[in-house]
Amino acid sequence: MRKFLDSLRILGAPLTFGSIGKTSEGREIPFVIASRPVVATPAAARSLGRPIVYVQGNIHAGEIEGKDALLALIRDLTFARKPNALDSIVLIAVPIYNADGNERFASQSINRTEQNGPELVGVRANAQNLDLNRDYVKAEAPETRASLAMFNVWDPDVFVDLHTTDGSFHGYALTYSPSLSPAAELGGVYARDSLLPVLRERMRMRDGFEVFDYGNFVSDERGLVADTSVREAWATYDSRPRFGTNYYGIRGRIGILSEAYSHDSLSRRIAATYAFVNEILSLVAEKGAAIRDLSARADSQPLSWGRAPDSVAIRSALTATPRSLEVIKEDLLTTGDSTRTQPGVPRGERRTGVYKKIRMPVYDRFTSTLDRLPPAAYVIAPQDTAVVTLLRLHGVRVDRSDSAWTARGESFTVDSIITSARPFQGHHEVRLKGSWQRGLQTLPPRSFIVSTAQPRGSLIVYLLEPESEDGFTTWNFFDSSLKKGGKYPVTRIFDLSRRGRATIRRSSASSLQQPLN
Ligand SMILES: [Zn+2]
Repeated sequence: MRKFLDSLRILGAPLTFGSIGKTSEGREIPFVIASRPVVATPAAARSLGRPIVYVQGNIHAGEIEGKDALLALIRDLTFARKPNALDSIVLIAVPIYNADGNERFASQSINRTEQNGPELVGVRANAQNLDLNRDYVKAEAPETRASLAMFNVWDPDVFVDLHTTDGSFHGYALTYSPSLSPAAELGGVYARDSLLPVLRERMRMRDGFEVFDYGNFVSDERGLVADTSVREAWATYDSRPRFGTNYYGIRGRIGILSEAYSHDSLSRRIAATYAFVNEILSLVAEKGAAIRDLSARADSQPLSWGRAPDSVAIRSALTATPRSLEVIKEDLLTTGDSTRTQPGVPRGERRTGVYKKIRMPVYDRFTSTLDRLPPAAYVIAPQDTAVVTLLRLHGVRVDRSDSAWTARGESFTVDSIITSARPFQGHHEVRLKGSWQRGLQTLPPRSFIVSTAQPRGSLIVYLLEPESEDGFTTWNFFDSSLKKGGKYPVTRIFDLSRRGRATIRRSSASSLQQPLN
């Protein structure tokens, strides 16, 4: 891959080459920026007034076709004489995001058991054995921290993450998903209802590929379908922001997951991924004004929360009202022996090439099960500096108070701490139950103040609310401050305007109870 990029450089391709950062083993993670005219800095990109699209390949390093497809697409678009999407967008391509995992080559039968070749592929995890597509909230991997830094400085309008499926035998060359979190209010809905249906039609008409919303048959994998009377259905995966494209939606932007079909040949997977990314770029180019307007609206919405707060979904469930749609399924036959008929096909079964359209419930979206109104600000205890570092990594502005102050607000009393028994990604995930109590809050000097009136306000609410299903509490950042019956270390404040005028008299504890303004 690096040689391919070098060859583009030697040929004088008008591209900007760089690195988003280094992996834990010290490898550079290259990026390529393609646009006409070529840009080298975020300021130059912004001055073009175009949508910025960030496409990432190889987050799971055994799922390799995104890497190949991206390289081919950059080459073809850059050297094309005719006008194309590069005249109307800025493309940031990160073809080999999990660069360490990519070097751990082994047989597909070990590294990617459900994939139809090639014989040698990398592994899913990074060198720290972290799944990078579960790391977007806690950001423990240097790869994640590097990509968050890229998101903060380039502020892409669209993020596309390229994968290969693991599951069902369906009839689609590629399946896709928008941001599934109900907290991804603008970008999630826009991608789902306005972009992806058009992309599906264009993939069929212009590129010859059937594509559909990502999912698995419930008969293969029950997933999150709660209704046990449902015997067959098509159901999507998860709405939580540990997954990159869900995370990106809560940042107020568009996230698109692309999953090439693991049972197709490598060449077909590359062709489908190439076509899908190409169609995304050209559709984003066409809808440039609408997409940039969407980004601007997402950023300005929290600024008016003081007048009209808008609730943020912090917990969600798979919809209980699926649509009924036709889904293409391939018949598999039992062979009667235990031979493997194709890499990735279970022993004792063979594919038939017979595809059937079956009408079934389709669970492709989530609904909120717990909403929270944003306060004016969250205040974080002075000792919780790790949380503040992480918030800043997520592109959140955090201030610090000079003096003690008192303000109207709410504090959360923890009634129960539910810790998952099984570790996941090295963590025992935490869930809190409890209740909020209103009253005057006394805030010590050097407290950290996180105003929600800033871009990414929804993300702030999602990460800091104690009951969030995938926030900082989930990933153990507050463990040392949590005890049953105790206070959660983040306080909600209703009004920031009087901060700074408040002064605390040290002589008497009772003065802390007085409103000082
Ligand atoms: Zn994957």
